[in-house]
Amino acid sequence: MGSNVRVRFAPSPTGPLHIGGVRTALYNYLFAKKHGGDFLLRIEDTDQTRFVPGAEKYIVESLAWCGISPDEGIGGEDRGNGPYRQSERKAMYREYAERLLASDKAYIAFDSADELDVMRQMAKEAGAANWQYNYITRGNMKNSLTLPKEEVEAKMAAGEPYVVRIKLPRDHEVRFEDNIRGWVSVNTNNMDDKVLFKADGMPTYHLANIVDDHLMGITHVIRGEEWLPSAPLHVMLYEAFEWSCPEFAHLPLLLKPDGPGKLSKRDGDRLGFPVFPIDWKNEQTGESANGYREFGFYPDAFINMLALLGWNPGTEQEIFDLAELITAFDLSKVSKSGAKFDFEKGKWFNQNYLRGLSQNQLASELKRELDNSGLTYKEEFLGKIASMMSERATFSKDLMTEGMFLFQAPVEYDEKTRKKKWRQESAQMMQDLVNRFVDLKDFTEGPVEEAFKNYLSENDLGFGKVGPSFRLAVTGKGMGPSMFVICEVLGKEEVIERIKKAIRVLG
Ligand code: GLU
Repeated sequence: MGSNVRVRFAPSPTGPLHIGGVRTALYNYLFAKKHGGDFLLRIEDTDQTRFVPGAEKYIVESLAWCGISPDEGIGGEDRGNGPYRQSERKAMYREYAERLLASDKAYIAFDSADELDVMRQMAKEAGAANWQYNYITRGNMKNSLTLPKEEVEAKMAAGEPYVVRIKLPRDHEVRFEDNIRGWVSVNTNNMDDKVLFKADGMPTYHLANIVDDHLMGITHVIRGEEWLPSAPLHVMLYEAFEWSCPEFAHLPLLLKPDGPGKLSKRDGDRLGFPVFPIDWKNEQTGESANGYREFGFYPDAFINMLALLGWNPGTEQEIFDLAELITAFDLSKVSKSGAKFDFEKGKWFNQNYLRGLSQNQLASELKRELDNSGLTYKEEFLGKIASMMSERATFSKDLMTEGMFLFQAPVEYDEKTRKKKWRQESAQMMQDLVNRFVDLKDFTEGPVEEAFKNYLSENDLGFGKVGPSFRLAVTGKGMGPSMFVICEVLGKEEVIERIKKAIRVLG
C-alpha cells in the first residue's frame, strides 16, 4: 500500500460518542498512520431531526483527549476538500442526484408517507412482512418510471414533494471483499430502491456519504458492523457514478460484559462503568453521561484497552503505547466476532500505566489530587508517598485516597484489627515506643526501624505482638506500606501525637 491511504471517521452529531465510536476512530487513525496516510474527520449532519447541539464539540474534544488528531477536516487542516460538515456541503449534493437521474440510475418518486404506509400494510396483510420499494413494486407506484413525462414535470413545477430513489437492476449479484468479513454477496432482488435525496432538499446518509468519500479521495472505509447491510447499496452507488469503490472493513461490535448484545449506556449504568470517553451533558435536555477521563483513566490506558477490543497483535504483548499500536496494527487481525467488554481489564491497563510512571510524574499526579481536595502536605515527601502508594493504586486519585492516613490523622480505627490485635498490654507497649521515639534525633526510616527492632529484642517480643497495634495506632488501619517510611513521612511529633491519642481512645 502506498502513502496515498486516506481514511475518515464520519460520525453523526446525534449525542455523545460511544466508546465503540472511539474505537472506530482509533482503528482508522492507526491504519492511516501505519501506512503513512491521512486521517480525516467529517461530520455527517444531514439528518437534522437527530442533530444534538454540543455533540460535534464533544467528538472533537474526545478525540483530542485520546491523542487521535485528524490530519484533515474538522479539528485538522482544510486541504481544499472542505467544507467537512455535510450541512455546509448541502448545495452540491443535488447535482449528483441529478447526474444519476440523467443516466437512468435513479428516478423521482412522489409517493407520500401515507401512501407508502398503505402499501406496507397491504403487504403485511398478504403475508409479506418486509415490503420493499424495488424493481417489482416500483411499477405500481407514483414515480417517473410509471407516470408520463409531462405529468412528472407538472408535479415538479407545482412544487409537489418528491424524493430521488436509486434504480437498482433486477437480479444482479453485488459482490465485494470486505477486509475483515471476507466476500460479501447480496442479490439486488433482496434490496430496496433506497431514497438518495429527500423532499426537504437534503441528501440521505447514503448519497452524501458516497459523494463525500469519493470527493475526499477516501481509499478505505473502516466503520462499525452496523453499516455492513448498507455496503451493497454503496457499492451499487459507486457503480452508478462509475467511480472506483474504496475498500471496506466492517468492525465487530463491542458486546455487553455479561450476555449477548451490543454494549449500551444502560449496561454501563447497571454495572457501574462509563461507556463514553469523557463526561457529557446535553444542555437542552439535561441528559448526562459519565466518561473515562473523569473516572480517572489515562488516555494511553484507555486507548490501549480499546485497541485490544476486537484486534490482537498475534503475540502475547498487551501493553502498547500509541506509537507501538501504529506499528503493530493490522486490519487482517481484526476479528469477525464481537468483542466482550471487560471493565476490570480496562482498570488493569490503567494500573499498568500508572506503575510505569516515573516518581516525578507520580508525585505531580498526587499533588494535583491533593490540591483539588485542599489537603496539606509536605512537598518533599510527595515522591516517596506517591511511589509507595502506587503499588496499591489503579487511578491517580488512589495515590491519595489509599494513603489518606498520611494527610489526616485517623478518626476511627479498623474494628477487626482492634479486636484481634489490640490487647491489654498494647497501650503500655505504645507508651514504651513513644518513650524511645522521643529521644530519636534522626526520625528517618532507618533509625525508626532500628529503635523499633531494639525495643522488640530487648523485651523479647515478636513482631506480631507490637507491629499491628503500632500500625493501628498511627494509621487506623490493619494493613499498608512500611510503617518506618510512614513514620518518616509523618514526622516525629505527629507520630507521637497519634500514638498518644490511640492510647486514650483504644485504652
Ligand atoms: N455517519 C455514519 C455514522 O454515524 C457514518 C458511517 C460510515 O462511516 O459510513 O456512523
